Amino acid sequence: MIVRVLVLGGDGYLGWPTALHFAAAGHEVAVVDNYLRRRYDDELGTASLVPISPLSIRIGCWREVSGTVIDCFIGDITDPEFLTNTLQWFKPQTIIHLAEQRSAPYSMVDRAHAVHTQVNNVVGTLNLLWAIAEVDSTIHLIKLGTMGEYGTPDIDIEEGWLHVTHRGRSDTLPFPKQPGSFYHLSKVHDSHNIMFCCRAWGLRATDLNQGVVYGCDTPQTQQDPALATRFDYDATFGTVLNRFVVQAVAGHALTVYGSGGQTRGFLNILDTMSCLELAAEHPAEPGEFRVFNQFTETFSVLGLAERVAQRSGVAVDHLPNPRVELEHHHYRAINTGLLDLGLRPHPLTDTVIDELLAAADRHRGLIDADTILPETQWRPRRLASPSGSP
Ligand code: NAD
Repeated sequence: MIVRVLVLGGDGYLGWPTALHFAAAGHEVAVVDNYLRRRYDDELGTASLVPISPLSIRIGCWREVSGTVIDCFIGDITDPEFLTNTLQWFKPQTIIHLAEQRSAPYSMVDRAHAVHTQVNNVVGTLNLLWAIAEVDSTIHLIKLGTMGEYGTPDIDIEEGWLHVTHRGRSDTLPFPKQPGSFYHLSKVHDSHNIMFCCRAWGLRATDLNQGVVYGCDTPQTQQDPALATRFDYDATFGTVLNRFVVQAVAGHALTVYGSGGQTRGFLNILDTMSCLELAAEHPAEPGEFRVFNQFTETFSVLGLAERVAQRSGVAVDHLPNPRVELEHHHYRAINTGLLDLGLRPHPLTDTVIDELLAAADRHRGLIDADTILPETQWRPRRLASPSGSP
């Protein structure tokens, strides 16, 4: 069945290959973006290791390669008029919402960055919920959350819900959330707002608590250099495996924060594409707030570093951890929902690590080593007392 899919954040790391993936599968696709991610690069003095084309060039290239058109709406989803008009014009049946500030370190830089992150993410999602309710409440919302919403509790992490017996009564309640940054908190706030709108207005939504994504090649992005998606390796936006791979290619030691016992869920970008497709093909029911834990394997940070070190021959180094997080903890999370829908994971084999190293090596001349080491600390600096104060 052909679906009209609107990809919010369609110029981003995951949004652009998502748009291509759905277009290649024959769906009618439009992207929304306000280039915020490209502006963060200007602010931070960073750049994607893989050169990326302007969105208009990407879309033109896709038209030439595939003969199909991806529509494009440039605007900010925190602007309610823009968002509502876009929904009225494009009439999507499915909306994949990836348009958020997605870096935990960026959200911890200072007060202004924390406020920006939560306003951008929470207001954007809230506008979207109102726009869906007012334009077409049958639209299936697929929202990218994160496994980081749960934190690292000392019990197994269920898929969204926890069956609780308390003082002789039982209920199934949202799994407790203990997020570790203002970014992760913004996702928790989003989840609550979406859950409320499903309950109160009968909207249908799938919240995908995604693990850390690695890789940047998909069958579509590989068809032309102008179709490439971004590959971030800097301390603020680079996800950990992508960062290790670039450090290895540069011949630098892999910098593990603290002891490296922090364990998280991970998935290949190819599996992100499959999960989004499966969620879209099997929509939530009206009124349902459905939660999937979207990762395929778990690794400790040190374990990942050792895998990359073993394939590349570089050393592993430990830095004082700039974050406030447990470095030794229980971590076992359930992720059967997407597997039950048919997900066939691409595990992180040595061959995959070699492919990641080879992909980074093709652009080794563009590596800026000055952007890799962390500068943002999780604890705020104390202000100096104003002169003259007691
Ligand atoms: P990204 O920063 O590369 O892409 C996000 C895109 O959204 C950017 O192009 C940005 O310009 C756009 N955007 C942000 N705010 C906007 C606004 N107000 N209006 C319009 N456009 C806006 O991020 P990504 O890595 O592609 O992540 C996509 C989603 O997946 C995010 O919600 C992120 O939290 C989630 N996620 C990502 C990962 C990962 O490993 N990359 C892991 C877990 C969850």
